[in-house]
Amino acid sequence: MPAARLYPIFTQLAGRAVLVVGGGSVAERKVAGLLEAGAEVAVIAPDFTPQLSAWAENGRISLISGKFDEEQLERRWLVIAATADPGVNAQVAAAAERRRLWTNVVDDAALSSFQVPAVVDRAPLVVAVSTAGAAPVLARLVREKIERLLDPSLGALAALADRWRGRIRGRFADLGQRRRFLERLFQGRVAELVRRGQPGAAEASVARELDVADASPTAGSVVLVGAGPGDAGLLTLKGLRALNEADVILYDRLVGADVLALARRDAERIDVGKQAGAHATSQEAIHALMLAHARAGRRVVRLKGGDPFVFGRGGEEIEFLQAHGIAYEVVPGVTAALACAAYAGIPLTHRDVAQSVRFVTAHCKASLDTLDWAALAAERQTLAVYMGVAGLERIRDRLVAHGRAPTTPAALVENGSRTTQRVVLGDLASLPRLAREHAVASPALLIVGEVAALGAQLHWFGAAPLTAAPPLACAA
Ligand code: SAH
Repeated sequence: MPAARLYPIFTQLAGRAVLVVGGGSVAERKVAGLLEAGAEVAVIAPDFTPQLSAWAENGRISLISGKFDEEQLERRWLVIAATADPGVNAQVAAAAERRRLWTNVVDDAALSSFQVPAVVDRAPLVVAVSTAGAAPVLARLVREKIERLLDPSLGALAALADRWRGRIRGRFADLGQRRRFLERLFQGRVAELVRRGQPGAAEASVARELDVADASPTAGSVVLVGAGPGDAGLLTLKGLRALNEADVILYDRLVGADVLALARRDAERIDVGKQAGAHATSQEAIHALMLAHARAGRRVVRLKGGDPFVFGRGGEEIEFLQAHGIAYEVVPGVTAALACAAYAGIPLTHRDVAQSVRFVTAHCKASLDTLDWAALAAERQTLAVYMGVAGLERIRDRLVAHGRAPTTPAALVENGSRTTQRVVLGDLASLPRLAREHAVASPALLIVGEVAALGAQLHWFGAAPLTAAPPLACAA
């Protein structure tokens, strides 16, 4: 069973009794942190560092000379064991566990019921980093990265926002309005003044901005965002920004969980995923949802797999929005054909063998009948066929009937760009059989043309392409 993940919390220790067992330099560091949090600290040990003794003389902590004794846990909220003696640490952990006290044994994740994270301190803004004890060095490196990202003035900025909270709340009844005002505050002139160390000017600037801000509710809008094929790294920066500003996200089945995880935490997420054949939410219902949320003044992101304008019905959606007077934007995404080709090492065009590429969809028999097969069967071009797995045999038969050689290389890329990606490589004649034998399922993209053969040699992502039938499983 995989270890359960830790549940992150920030604790309010002001005025609460905490026991530290151990009187050396490690204990001293822990005490320093606890004092910053306003805890009422008692330290028990046979001897103490000069600093610990000094704090005790100033009345900031109390010292108990002697050995750890379970009685000392009485009335405490937290315990930290920081002795150099593993036996004592284990004894503290066991006694605290019996009393249901949260315990940290320094550098011993197994004995600890809570861990102290690596922190980036911009109090009151604090970023805590933990690997649940799995890789403390990694946590430290991540902390250093974040440390570089966050300007030292952010703490002062957070404190300023706290001072103005009541007045800002009073000015904007609407939550969305308030959030947008604060977003501007944290990124604009006020933030800049705080950064430059001019707190007075910053305060004046907040007052001015509050004065001139328009408090009437804003109109909602819709951004159609292409989420790409699955790998979250392929999302555009603009798409990421839209996801971070969204109030509501309507997302499709093909949108990867990793992409969705990048969105603003408290954005409402609505799954309108469509299964081929079994529509979870009809197109009309999606239109109605977009309209209702936008009319309520929300920022809606309509998040679609790949690119919104490539077999994604994005055109219909903005026609609808325009007809209803809703403002919209479109952020392109990396479409499946581009991503699958790249991640399979198959260049879609190639000076020697393919001068053009066509994006085709073939999701049902009726759509197959309306395609210009003579044109599709022409040489020196690449076909990228969306939604083609089910109709693979029919596609092959028609291409061959219109003159494409059965030996034309062809590839199927299943779950392109995801960790589950599989590539099946063959030719027009063999591919339907290989696809059956490997049980290739949707989403998969079919690439037909001489370029497909290059995948055998140029592949770089995930497992090597499958070119033959899987070995038969032995019957027991
Ligand atoms: N708008 C999307 C396409 C939607 S149609 C885009 O631009 O990519 C759905 C089809 O796209 C699927 O049936 C499949 O053929 C293809 N597809 C989408 N994501 C894919 C992926 N990660 N791997 C392989 N094919 C994919």
